[in-house]
Amino acid sequence: VTVVGVGLIGGSLAGALREAGLAGEIIGTGRSAETLRKARDLGLVDRYETRLDRAVKGSQLVVLAAPVGVISALMANLAGCLEPDALLTDTGSVKGDVVAAARRHLGECLPCFVPGHPVAGTERSGPEAAFPELYRGHMVILTPVAETLASATARIRALWTAVGARVIEMSVADHDRILAMTSHLPHMLAYALVDHLVARGDDDRCFDLAAGGFYDFTRIASSDPAMWRDICLHNRAEIASAVRELAGSLERLAGHIEEGDGATLFDMFRRARDARAQVADRRRGRAETRV
Ligand code: NAP
Repeated sequence: VTVVGVGLIGGSLAGALREAGLAGEIIGTGRSAETLRKARDLGLVDRYETRLDRAVKGSQLVVLAAPVGVISALMANLAGCLEPDALLTDTGSVKGDVVAAARRHLGECLPCFVPGHPVAGTERSGPEAAFPELYRGHMVILTPVAETLASATARIRALWTAVGARVIEMSVADHDRILAMTSHLPHMLAYALVDHLVARGDDDRCFDLAAGGFYDFTRIASSDPAMWRDICLHNRAEIASAVRELAGSLERLAGHIEEGDGATLFDMFRRARDARAQVADRRRGRAETRV
């Protein structure tokens, strides 16, 4: 197995496969030798190669776990050097642009490419942040397209299941629309809130007085800015539309507060609290089923 990009996501998958003895040899590759050395020293990969063509030679499975912004270039370089029967998958948080790049670059290898997105992670990045248990109990979304071989999807499904994930399939368009609301929008909100306070200029006092709610809500604003820039640039329409829709809701909320409309505010908060409780229950239920 070759993992391209041995940070949080690729390093964790490599570590999980290695720990479970699911691959004969795991080879890491990526941008800097320093990161690759760290991944090897941490025991996430067996060895590393700095050249992509050398890294994928002989591999039956290649996992692209690099930032979304570089996946297209990686595919262009991979097309000529993948083994004829190799499976290819990715972990990118956006699927539309990744699939478009695959169609542009992969040629005969396209049927063996299974687009994927593990819905697991933390706000940390790099191999030091990786841990083999990351995927246990988490969801992985696969978005196979018309060209994808059913056998390739089945093997990638088996791989994620073997490291403890729950695999679901959906269309590329649904993925990018739904994830824009449930993952990308919360990140935009967390970044926007912290940046808003910084831009106001009284952030020192605000932050000194910040309570648990502020830290809970803004934890994800510690995520890698380059990764989130890439996600925005590759899911522009869906994220912009989700942000605009929410801006409309916030504007209406400001109106209710200004008017002192306590009944509407109470209804809204109660509806949101009940919905949040249901989501949390469903999540707990799934975790207990797995145990
Ligand atoms: P990360 O910890 O920053 O790791 C990214 C890795 O990609 C690093 O090892 C980096 O190497 C390497 N890389 C950067 N540019 C590269 C290039 N041009 N060619 C090859 N490798 C390159 O990021 P991550 O959180 O693991 O995210 C990896 C992917 O998973 C992204 O596509 C992201 O959208 C997706 N994802 C992330 C999360 C999350 O919560 N973090 C969740 C689901 C999916 P250097 O250290 O040398 O730069």
